[in-house]
Amino acid sequence: MAQTINVGPVYPPYQLDNFQRCPLFWDLDKRWKKPLPKEWTAGLIGVAVAMALQSALTGGQAMPTDVASDYVRENYPARADRSLKGVLELVRQGVELGMATRFGLKEILAVEKSFGRTRPDLVGYDYDGALAVWDHKVKVSLDDKFLEKELARYDTSNQFYEYAWIVGQEYGEPVERVYAHLIILGPSPRTMLHSVQMSPEHVRHWLHGASRDWKLMRAIEQGDEEAYARYTGCQTPYGPCAMYEGCHTFYGDESAFPAIYEHVKGRYAG
Ligand code: SF4
Repeated sequence: MAQTINVGPVYPPYQLDNFQRCPLFWDLDKRWKKPLPKEWTAGLIGVAVAMALQSALTGGQAMPTDVASDYVRENYPARADRSLKGVLELVRQGVELGMATRFGLKEILAVEKSFGRTRPDLVGYDYDGALAVWDHKVKVSLDDKFLEKELARYDTSNQFYEYAWIVGQEYGEPVERVYAHLIILGPSPRTMLHSVQMSPEHVRHWLHGASRDWKLMRAIEQGDEEAYARYTGCQTPYGPCAMYEGCHTFYGDESAFPAIYEHVKGRYAG
């Protein structure tokens, strides 16, 4: 593996996740959306809790629970899978639990600051002076029997390695660990800090692969390459891919997509 990596364009981790699952999905998802009978509120709950923790960590004047509740009321979707009352209660529980976590850090360097196209929740010097990153992960429900699998996902997460790489670049020293700050609302409410140890060699190994994918993503966006199907991504742990009919009924012919999908504009912008 080359010692020096010519990185080129950089994309946010969620886009890299989509691209690595299936380049065609990453491309189609920018233009097409399958209408869902319900809008999931798990993401809204996670963002609201993270905003409250951000306010608390930066000494904001407003009560953290008020920050979170205001955000929920402003962004509560029509056809939500939970009532507004239920979402507000889950957010309140998440904020209370999250605020009780002892991070043990020596110094906060950045809270919700953008580093290029990624935005880690918290960056600072850990209890032992190591540069570290914390990312809040709210789980409305996580049974103990799935906990180990959940933690293992963070150990190879594009998001965590991208944080380590880009934050290390910014501060001129390696990030030594990235923490998942898990806020579990049920069935056993608790929080935990799961540490993923980083080393410059490990981050470079990840960057070697990620940077090649980023170049290919840019080439597809510029029309120099064509997106292509990867059938190993067609079935996900949550069911069939959202573009399943697009590929396996319409064989990728986007002129037929409006029969099932809505055209969307401006996704993945920036
Ligand atoms: S259905 Fe399969 S091939 Fe089509 S976009 Fe999804 S993962 Fe890719």
